[in-house]
Amino acid sequence: MATGHPRGVSAVVTRRSLPLLRPPEASLPPLQARWIVAVLGTPTLPDESNATCDDCAMLADPSLPPGALVFSPDTRCCTYLPTLANFLVGGALREATSHGAASMRLRLAKNDGVSALGIIVDPALVAATQSDTERFGRDVTLRCPHYEPTTGRCGVWAWREATCATWFCKHTRGERAKAFWNRLQQLLARLERAVAWHCALTLDLPPEAFALLSPLARTNGPGRADVLAGEVDPWGRWSGDVEGFFRACTEVAEALTPAAVLALGGVEALALAQTVQLAHRQLLDDALPTQVTLGRAQVVGLSPDSVRTQGYSHLDPLEVPRALFDQLHHFDGRPLDDALRAASAAAGEDVPAGAIGMLLDFGILRGC
Ligand code: SF4
Repeated sequence: MATGHPRGVSAVVTRRSLPLLRPPEASLPPLQARWIVAVLGTPTLPDESNATCDDCAMLADPSLPPGALVFSPDTRCCTYLPTLANFLVGGALREATSHGAASMRLRLAKNDGVSALGIIVDPALVAATQSDTERFGRDVTLRCPHYEPTTGRCGVWAWREATCATWFCKHTRGERAKAFWNRLQQLLARLERAVAWHCALTLDLPPEAFALLSPLARTNGPGRADVLAGEVDPWGRWSGDVEGFFRACTEVAEALTPAAVLALGGVEALALAQTVQLAHRQLLDDALPTQVTLGRAQVVGLSPDSVRTQGYSHLDPLEVPRALFDQLHHFDGRPLDDALRAASAAAGEDVPAGAIGMLLDFGILRGC
C-alpha cells in the first residue's frame, strides 16, 4: 500500500519497475522450490518486496493514510485453515519441539479431515471464509492453528502448502503478478495432491483404504454400490503409528526428483506448467497496449494531493496523484499516444508512459 501523498503526475512511477527475480527457494518451501526448477526453464520467481511478511505491511501504522484497511496483529493474513498433504504433515511433525509440530498433533488429535492423504479441509468452508473481506485478516476465530501469535510467524513455514506459499497481500506488478502466483498455486496444489497419493501408494496401504479415500458418489438411484468387507482400518500396517506414517510420507516425497513429481502430476500438471510459464513471460512483458480505457477504478480515500484508488485488489490500492487522476478521462479507448498527449497538455506536465503502465498493472486502466 502506498504511503504518503504523491504530488506530480509522475510520482506514481516510483512504484513501477519490473519485479526483481530471485531463486525459487527464496520464496517457496524447500520441497516445492525444487519442483519448480523442473517447470520454469529459468527458475526465478518475482520478489514481492511490497509484501513484507517480517514487518507486516498490513498492520496499523501511523504513516498509513486515514481509513486504510489494516489486519489484526493477532492474525495477520493467517485467517485461513490450510489443507496439508501427508508429506507436509510429516515434515512439520519431524520438527519435534516446534510450535508447528505441536499444532499439527492437535489437528491430528482432533481428527477433522485426517486421512492417509493428509489433513483435508472442506473447500466450501475455505471459500466461504476467504471471500469475507470483513473477517479476512482480522477475525481471530478464523486464525490458523499453525500461526504463532506471540511472534506473528508461521509454525510450519518450511512445510506450508500451495496457497500459503503463493499468497501475497501486495504485488510489485499488481494484477499481472497476482495472476502469476495464482497459476503457480494451481500447479503446486495439483502436484501436492499427486505426491500425496504417491506417498500413500508407496507405503502399502490396503486397497480398502484407497476405497475409503475415494468414495463413490452417493446417488439416490441404483447403479452405484461399494462392498467393503467388515470393519476396515484405513491405516493398514500403520495402525497405531499414524505419525510414523506421515513422517515416512515426507521421506518418500523428498526422494522424488522434480521431473518425477511433474510426471506424477500427469498431463494436467504438464498443461498447468505451461500456464505458469506463460504467466511468467507476461509478468516480464513491459509493452503497453495501443489503446487504453478505464478499468475497475474505485475511489477509497482522498487527500489534498492524491486519490487512493482500488483496482485489482482491496488490499493493494494505489495512491494516484490528483494531477494524474484528474486526467484519467482522456484514456477512453483512443490511441494511447493521443491520450497521453491530451492528458499531458491538460496536466501542464508530461504524463510518463511508466505511470500508465502502473495504472494498467493495478487494473485502474485496461487495454482495449
Ligand atoms: S500455515 Fe502458516 S502461512 Fe499458512 S495460514 Fe497457517 S500460519 Fe499462515
